[in-house]
Amino acid sequence: MFLQRLKLFFTSITILGTIFLVYSIYNTHKFKTSDLDEKTKNRITHKILYLQSLAYKKFGIKRKIPIKVSNKMPSNLFGAATLNQKGEIVIFLNKKRFKESVDYMIDDVLPHEYAHALMFVFGDVSKENGGHSKKWQDICLALEGKRCNRFVDYNDVIFDKTNLF
Ligand SMILES: [Zn+2]
Repeated sequence: MFLQRLKLFFTSITILGTIFLVYSIYNTHKFKTSDLDEKTKNRITHKILYLQSLAYKKFGIKRKIPIKVSNKMPSNLFGAATLNQKGEIVIFLNKKRFKESVDYMIDDVLPHEYAHALMFVFGDVSKENGGHSKKWQDICLALEGKRCNRFVDYNDVIFDKTNLF
């Protein structure tokens, strides 16, 4: 009787452990493959509209910049602004990084990359300080970026490729 109970006890623990493991794997996998949640997607959309309105109000720019959330970007990159030879501009945001901080991605990274994109619109393809020139900083601040630090070591300005990620 005692042995049977002990056996039942260990069987239950094994089953619970397996369920927990499967659940953990499922959650990790779900984040990698599924879309961002609706709330985050709405926040991104609102921010894009706001950045578009600032670009128009402060610089007279009406152009809409496509923004793609990608899970194919290297983990060390939060975002990137790309320009190809046809003059197409695309901003990428790293989906993996949304897991850590949605606020950071939306309030810091997005205006930072949007400022790079506007530099392209202005025809300024300066590689000074990895694209983080004084002019870039002024645009970033005008877009109400939270941190428009010029001395970052991001290699987030990419030329001649747009379907990179
Ligand atoms: Zn940058």
